[in-house]
Amino acid sequence: MLYNSTQNAREVVSSAQAIAQGISKDGGLFVPQEFPKYDKADFQALLAMDYRGRAKKVFSDFLTDFTEEEIIDCVSKAYTSEKFGGSNPAPMAYTKLGDTPLNVLELWHGPTCAFKDMALQILPHLLTKSLKKTYDGKDAVILVATSGDTGKAALEGFKDVEHTKIIVFYPVDGVSPMQKHQMNTQEGSNVTVCAIKGNFDDAQTGVKKIFTTPEISEKLAENNMLFSSANSINWGRLLPQIVYYISAYCDLVNDGKIALGDKINVVVPTGNFGNILASYYAGLMGLPVAKFICASNSNNVLTDFINTGIYDKNRDFYTTMSPSMDILVSSNLERLLYKLSGDSDVSTKEWMDSLKSTGKYEVSDEVKAVIREKFFGGFCGEEQTQSIINRLFTQSGYLCDTHTAVAVNVYEQYVKNTGDTTPSVIASTASPYKFSKAVLKAVSPDCTLPETEFEMVDMLFDISKMPVPAPLASLKDKKARFSDVTEVDKMPEYVLSALSIE
Ligand SMILES: *Cc1c(COP(=O)(O)O)cnc(C)c1O
Repeated sequence: MLYNSTQNAREVVSSAQAIAQGISKDGGLFVPQEFPKYDKADFQALLAMDYRGRAKKVFSDFLTDFTEEEIIDCVSKAYTSEKFGGSNPAPMAYTKLGDTPLNVLELWHGPTCAFKDMALQILPHLLTKSLKKTYDGKDAVILVATSGDTGKAALEGFKDVEHTKIIVFYPVDGVSPMQKHQMNTQEGSNVTVCAIKGNFDDAQTGVKKIFTTPEISEKLAENNMLFSSANSINWGRLLPQIVYYISAYCDLVNDGKIALGDKINVVVPTGNFGNILASYYAGLMGLPVAKFICASNSNNVLTDFINTGIYDKNRDFYTTMSPSMDILVSSNLERLLYKLSGDSDVSTKEWMDSLKSTGKYEVSDEVKAVIREKFFGGFCGEEQTQSIINRLFTQSGYLCDTHTAVAVNVYEQYVKNTGDTTPSVIASTASPYKFSKAVLKAVSPDCTLPETEFEMVDMLFDISKMPVPAPLASLKDKKARFSDVTEVDKMPEYVLSALSIE
């Protein structure tokens, strides 16, 4: 299977090249030229497998230039019971909100308690193997712009992986205290963490600029290094996310919730559009998905886009209690547009150029029609986020984090609007303990909040009796290693200095 750039279909690469390079030279994103199709017999076979078996099947069908041994090696290093606290790294939980059943796909059982572990535990292994195939002998420099969870998950995934170095930038006031502490205490000899004076989009733009500055790339090349990306634009990030939608469907069948062949909806709390795109790709492979429900917080640029076909990032930016979704430019939407426009690199490039120059674009009527048919977009404000956490906990004893709450709220809106009772999978993207303060305020509005995040964790445990994930419990005693803060325009110098190649 080959991959090409969304902005130049003649830029064609192997999967190893796509993963090693991260982003195409023309600024486009790599996409598979075709999608493997699974029929009933394929699903029948998948039903009998565990998560790792399902992952191996999906990976083999996309990474055709990897050997079977390489894929087995990556999968078995990534999805261990030890790292994910159980044999199924992405288990289902079944609960209810009022009369509405919620099939919750818990994607946060990995080492950083958020869904990005699902991809970032395997990406470093895919990447080192890809580099060996393409740029043998070079060290990969991973630059990450994060709104919180990606940074820590990437650091955990890459720490002490040979032939890699990782530098993470985060917005100084745009992540939770717990997220900050998680990153600043990161262990590993090949890691650097730095805050920037700006928001997530500034960090992301800064990183993109560094990637595309020829002088910086030359300097790296002289020192036998090359840039690669662990952000959700890397194909090696997206592919692992397809697996858990297929696996969730199999679990629903095995648990007697649906019959093989039944349609489902998926509900995804969305920021950069990676997670929901993976579900769409699973749909292209034959997963029977009726509706893709895209849930946003007050930064509702995607809701407007789905409803109007106009993407306009010229609007106020809000810092919310679901910070991993505080995003105005959803990078992975580019891949959806490429697909929906009939693999048109010309249209995709036009829209992306317009986004760059005016902050805005409007898709064609054909694309609008498909979006309206397959997607539902909704958003949820701060108060509703808290009230849904409260209702779900009070009514059903199920505790969810702020991001998942946004999805549950938008799903409720969807059911009210449409009356659609198709069984739905709700992607739950973080442990509630990762956002203890907001969750605590939601379930116990009258409590006096303790001083530190760790006391809040203890208090939330007292109220919910839900076990605190081990990686969060052990953080308390860790000392911070990193405290740098830099201006956005100083990011290039910071990178060169961190790599000791000024
Ligand atoms: C990253 C993240 C999201 C958004 O996912 P995208 O793939 O960027 O749309 C949602 N929730 C949490 C907890 C996250 O970390």
